[in-house]
This record gives sequence, structure tokens and C-alpha cells, in this order.
Amino acid sequence: MFDNLSERLERSFKILKGEGKITEINVAETLKDVRKALLDADVNYKVAKTFTDTVKEKALGQNVLSAVKPSQLMVKIVHDELTQLMGGETAEINIESRPAVILMSGLQGSGKTTFSGKLARMLKSKKNRKPLLVACDVYRPAAVEQLRVLAEQIEVPMYSEPDSKSPVEIAQNAIKEAKAKGYDLVIVDTAGRLAIDEQMMNEIAAIKAAINPDEILFVVDSMTGQDAVNTAKEFNERLDFNGVVLTKLDGDTRGGAALSIRSVVNKPIKFVGTGEKLDAIDQFHPARMADRILG
Ligand code: GDP
Repeated sequence: MFDNLSERLERSFKILKGEGKITEINVAETLKDVRKALLDADVNYKVAKTFTDTVKEKALGQNVLSAVKPSQLMVKIVHDELTQLMGGETAEINIESRPAVILMSGLQGSGKTTFSGKLARMLKSKKNRKPLLVACDVYRPAAVEQLRVLAEQIEVPMYSEPDSKSPVEIAQNAIKEAKAKGYDLVIVDTAGRLAIDEQMMNEIAAIKAAINPDEILFVVDSMTGQDAVNTAKEFNERLDFNGVVLTKLDGDTRGGAALSIRSVVNKPIKFVGTGEKLDAIDQFHPARMADRILG
């Protein structure tokens, strides 16, 4: 993950490290390299520009040129700015209510169903919650079956209505069932399409309006780079979601989505998916991610 970006940034800083004395030109060159590395990692153009402008301002403000260890100071400034770019603090999900209701959104193939299972498993074992997984896909029986298999693996009940054509009613009935049976966490998996379409957006907006979830998570495949950011924008405009789940960070992802999403949609990344297995889930920590990016 982010191998290329890490390598490129390391190379950029070498320019600084090699010189006995650092000049404004070296700093400018390093920042040009940093910007190129970010763009090659598929970071949004405006985000990359604002990022390097901010780093430059800070470097001048903190007087990098006369610092004892200029390259170390530059690395620190870049590290801090990368952390800020990804939201600064770790963002928690809001699951105080009982039952707390989490609505999952995203395109088909993003990893929504897998993540629903991972989250249920994690909150069951770490927070001692009693989850109910809800299958709201009325178009693809295979999707419902996939959630059923996951639910069985993690020993969590699943709610579905095979004969229903109304995702809104399924979600509402599931919450009633949770209240009646004492489940204190309802995770609603919804239908996704391969591309954004009006019907899907209307449907998930209607589910949101009907069940008023405590938390709406938008799930996106990190390997899709700038497309991930554009999709996030469209979902956020319709749903005003609370947080992002970046999946497939274990793949050959360049890092653009992780670095751009927060500043483009102004919503935090809350979790990452790091594999197909059900324990491959982590909370997202911006500072730790910055550590990894800088190698
Ligand atoms: P959905 O259509 O959004 O519900 O997506 P799925 O949950 O069915 O996931 C699509 C594919 O991506 C499946 O083959 C999953 O095993 C895989 N997948 C999901 N999350 C991850 C992840 O974090 N890493 C990897 N490598 N694969 C994942």
C-alpha cells in the first residue's frame, strides 16, 4: 500500500538531505517533487496544490533554511500536513443509541456487504454489542445470500424479507424486530449499482428518511482513486453521510483516495478494509497513516 508514494517522497527529501546548506531553491524543488508524487498517486489536483502551498508557507514560517536539521523539519511539516489532510483526529462512529442504526451506502463491488459483516463482528466482540444484520437488496438474491453466509460465519442474526419489494419497509421492520428481540445494533446493508443512478439514490435517500440512522457510512474501493472521490461527492450530496470506509487498502492502491476524500467531501474516513477476511478491518488513524506514507 502506498509503496510508490512513500518511495517518491523519500526521494524528494533526499534532495534536501544531500546538500550541506539548504536554499530556497532546494525547498521549492522538493515541494515540486512532492506535488508530482501526490499527483502520480492520483491525489486530486487542487488538493495537491493546496497541500504543497501550505507546506511551503509553514516551512518558511518555521524558518526551515536556518533550522539545525532542515530535512527533518521538512519531513515533520509534511507529516503534520498529511495528518491534517486526512482529518487530523481519529473519528468515531456514533452508536450510543440502543438500538443504534447504521446505514451502509456505496456502489456494488465496493465491499459494502463484506464490511457490514466485519463491523458487526468487531462491535460484537470488542464492544459487546448484539448486532442484527439487515439485507435490503430486493434486486439481487445473491447479495442477500452473501450476507446470510457472512452472518452465519460470525454468528450474528440476519433479517431479510425474500418476498418484499420495498427496501424501506424491510429496514423499518428490521428495526422493529431489533427492538422486540433486544438487538442493540442494526446494520442495514443496501443495494448497490455498478454506477450511480437516480433510482438507487432515491431508494437509499428514502431509507434514510424512513429510519433516521445514527450513522451513515459510505463504502468505497480505495483502488479506484479519483473515481472514489467523485463517487463520494455524489453520495454525500444526496445522503450527507457521516463517514467513509476505504476498502481494499491491502491491494495495490496508490493512496489518492485516502488523501483526497477528506478535503473534497469534508467527511472523515472512519474505517479501512485491509483484506477479504472478516477480521481485516481497522479504525482509521490519520497520524499513523501519515507515518506509513512517509515510510
Ligand atoms: P458489495 O457489492 O459492495 O457488497 O461488495 P462485496 O462486499 O461483495 O465485496 C466485493 C469484493 O471485494 C468481494 O470479493 C470481497 O471479498 C472483496 N473485498 C471487500 N473488502 C475487501 C478488502 O478490504 N480487501 C480486499 N482485498 N478485498 C475486499
